[in-house]
Amino acid sequence: MTTQPSQAFVSLVGAGPGDPDLLTMKAYRLIQTADVVVYDRLVSKEIMDLVTPYAELLFVGKKLNHHCVPQDQINQILVDKALEGKHVVRLKGGDPFIFGRGGEELETLVEHNIPFEVVPGITAASGCSAYAGIPLTHRDHAQSVQFITGHLKPKNQQQEGQDIQWQSLAKNNHTLVFYMGLKQAPVIRQNLTENGLSINTPCAIIERGTTAKQRVLTGMLSDLDNLAKQAISPSLIIVGSVVNLQGKLKWFGK
Ligand code: SAH
Repeated sequence: MTTQPSQAFVSLVGAGPGDPDLLTMKAYRLIQTADVVVYDRLVSKEIMDLVTPYAELLFVGKKLNHHCVPQDQINQILVDKALEGKHVVRLKGGDPFIFGRGGEELETLVEHNIPFEVVPGITAASGCSAYAGIPLTHRDHAQSVQFITGHLKPKNQQQEGQDIQWQSLAKNNHTLVFYMGLKQAPVIRQNLTENGLSINTPCAIIERGTTAKQRVLTGMLSDLDNLAKQAISPSLIIVGSVVNLQGKLKWFGK
């Protein structure tokens, strides 16, 4: 095994969904002391303002269909910077292990024998649902909750086992949270209703959740395509009768 500079270290850190007050103490401490911060588009400006001015900042952000920096290059940047003997903070929106490719980045570090730690963050589902007043579970509404990626591969590119098992999602007493689902809203609506979920099932789109610009659009599954057309990224889709509680439990931005 190769010997690495003793200071080489990577902290894979979740920055939460946007509100800087939702950073963990550990995340806050690390961004104040890092040598290098590698961050993407979902990390809010308010959080980047808290990073020490002495850190080197590397933006590797991605927009849908505009991959600024391909994943293997991001992995390489982490390796290269760590091997310069730097403490690298890899800062990601939400939680690094929830639709964040954090696992892929760590696998590369393992291959290069670079030590690391993982700092969890508040994932968009928790942050957005809390700030929208939509409890993800509730004894009268939902006994389970599922996080699903809406970033679906086109049918002809799907490998076996990679497509979503819609039948198992289309259940009552269950909350569905779709990440990256805006563009796929018609596909989501169609598959859920074809598999038995009522078109009257309540749904919400939470845009830029936990930030001063948060917007919550609500309706029924039959309205989902239209709601999605009105929303911009990043947005989260929540489907399930818990959405009905929003009228009563709304508190943020009142
Ligand atoms: N690791 C992140 C998710 C990255 S995938 C996490 O744990 O939250 C990116 C998707 O997350 C976006 O397309 C959107 O669906 C969701 N998302 C992230 N931040 C959000 C926010 N502030 N408001 C609404 N959705 C958000």
